[in-house]
Amino acid sequence: MIEIKEHSQDSVEKHVKLQKQYFKAGKTRSKEYRVNMLQTLEKQIRKHEANISQALKLDLNKSETEAYVTEIGFLLEEIRFTIKHIDKWMKPKKVKTAKTHIGSKGYTIAEPYGVTLIIAPWNYPFQLQIAPLIGAIAAGNTAILKPSEITPNTSNVITSIINEVFDPAYIAVLEGGVETTTHLLDQRFDYIFFTGSVSVGKVVMEAAAKRLIPITLELGGKSPCIIDESANLELAVKRVAFGKFINAGQTCIAPDYLFVHKKVKEKFISEFKNVIHEFYGENPLENEQFAKIVNERHFNRIKSYLSHGEVLHGGNVDEKLHKIEPTLIVPKEMSSALMTEEIFGPILPIIEYEDIQEVIDFVTDRPKPLALYLFTKNDRIEQQVTETISFGGGCINDTLMHIATPYLPFGGVGESGIGDYHGESSFQTFSHMKSILKQTTLFDFRFRYPNAKNGLATL
Ligand code: NAD
Repeated sequence: MIEIKEHSQDSVEKHVKLQKQYFKAGKTRSKEYRVNMLQTLEKQIRKHEANISQALKLDLNKSETEAYVTEIGFLLEEIRFTIKHIDKWMKPKKVKTAKTHIGSKGYTIAEPYGVTLIIAPWNYPFQLQIAPLIGAIAAGNTAILKPSEITPNTSNVITSIINEVFDPAYIAVLEGGVETTTHLLDQRFDYIFFTGSVSVGKVVMEAAAKRLIPITLELGGKSPCIIDESANLELAVKRVAFGKFINAGQTCIAPDYLFVHKKVKEKFISEFKNVIHEFYGENPLENEQFAKIVNERHFNRIKSYLSHGEVLHGGNVDEKLHKIEPTLIVPKEMSSALMTEEIFGPILPIIEYEDIQEVIDFVTDRPKPLALYLFTKNDRIEQQVTETISFGGGCINDTLMHIATPYLPFGGVGESGIGDYHGESSFQTFSHMKSILKQTTLFDFRFRYPNAKNGLATL
């Protein structure tokens, strides 16, 4: 097991100071530099593809396909998209002139914040560290990366990939856990981008508030999934199983629990059992493609949920490999941890409903979810759900896929997060939109000045 060493306060301060100087020198601002650095990053990811895959296998037992689709390929596409559009994003944007401002012109300039801090979690440890970095580079910032100590192999690979080609005064990786992060949060960054749990999100926000540092918080929570009676059940079952069991449920936007209409519940359950068998075989615990739970603490936490309801399918665990079978469970009580904490594992509670209003009331009485999924062919239900429930983002008739397009901003709302990113929204997140009004010198309005007569003065 690789051990991640913490950084001292001194080391953290030195890195930040170095980056402050580098940013001040102005090198990071030109379009050429940004594109060049994005291309360098892309080359590094391609060059180290096998190492990244291997680290993800060691840390999470991710299969090569899963590692490519959800981490490596995702990032290569984000870089390609960013390079293609950066010219347009960087251009100053003209705005209309208000009648009260005749003669002047207004525009906004996207200016880099400066030295940024990007803190990542362990569940998609490579993608969630590098995706915000693409935005930070594109917007002309420097960045300090803090990978998760819980996935040490990936943390090490990130360090080698970055250190091999980037000047630490521009991009640095500071590996470590709570101690290093605490030192980092004590610095005067110009922007903080955090992905992780709600509880640590509060720690980050509190630290940022002390210095009024702008932040993005990409957090978690319980994301509901609703199966309406009109849904295409065959597709719904497959897409729910895909979204829930990829990475063994350790996905921030995985469907956390299911609401299934009474009329289709039995059919859904029997189809679901078939699909799990089809996807993962007779014994999913022995399936090499099925991810493990990241560590013992999380394994024990998730395992304990098995006693919070009636298991309809699955429920077996492998203590040695830290694996938990894809499991369908009927919760005993809505107040249990199974129904109040983010599950973040392959256990899917299923609840029956008759009227969509019951579902709306249940979800809106709880913290606003990061994602929501609805399977339906009924436009009225679709409108009712999307317009009355507040959630970060989601899909109709699918799961997870809204995260994988650079055209949709991705982020939470309320307890599930603040701000968004991906595609242009990443560029905007890491840029301050500076407003400029350029006034005419051809004429002047006398009445704006104290003690002046009304009228226009031509100069
Ligand atoms: P976490 O909050 O425990 O850790 C995230 C980062 O914060 C890590 O780098 C960790 O070293 C650091 N950290 C941990 N405790 C800290 C403390 N007390 N002070 C300062 N820093 C600290 O989250 P995690 O367990 O790594 O990730 C799982 C959570 O992240 C889930 O809640 C999940 O929903 C959420 N998540 C959200 C998204 C999203 O895009 N919204 C994506 C992935 C994960």
